[in-house]
Amino acid sequence: MTGDIKTLITEHEINKRIREMAQLISHDYHNKQVKLIGILKGAVFFMVDLAKALNEIPVTMDFMDVSSYGASTCTSGEVRVLKDLDEPIENEHVLLVEDIIDTGLTIRFILKQLAGRNPASLKICTLLDKPSRREVEVPIDYIGFTIPNEFVIGFGLDYDQRYRNLPYIGVLSE
Ligand code: 5GP
Repeated sequence: MTGDIKTLITEHEINKRIREMAQLISHDYHNKQVKLIGILKGAVFFMVDLAKALNEIPVTMDFMDVSSYGASTCTSGEVRVLKDLDEPIENEHVLLVEDIIDTGLTIRFILKQLAGRNPASLKICTLLDKPSRREVEVPIDYIGFTIPNEFVIGFGLDYDQRYRNLPYIGVLSE
């Protein structure tokens, strides 16, 4: 069932890059506690691996689930909160963890929501960045891989809720 998937980023490349990102983040948050906020469901795989690699700084975690109205593979720009955070983030150093930033509309909505809750700092970390499709400018602090304009699956990313559990990033052939 996975024969029609072209590998874009291997499991080894992802693991190596996550360790590099964790080193950078540990350095930047030296002497601080960071709260990772994962955007469900896609960011879960990346967030778990990133959290395990952040072994030099204290880490807490929370999750948020949002949904865009409209077609499944195209973000319409209208976003609603399906699950909010469990805890307040006031005075916390928050790092938003995303699987992919495409048009930027989802993360911009979340950023606006959370900025109003007075965190000590608020940064963005994404495993994948697809800048060719950006519609709104978003300040991304940590990027795993910049990818071309292709619909990718695996490592948390789905097509119709499938393929999230692939340990690599791939592209479905036609
Ligand atoms: P944005 O609001 O930046 O356009 O979209 C962000 C969300 O769209 C991601 O969290 C993801 O759920 C979905 N998305 C965007 N590009 C892709 C892609 O190439 N593959 C998959 N599976 N989802 C994508």
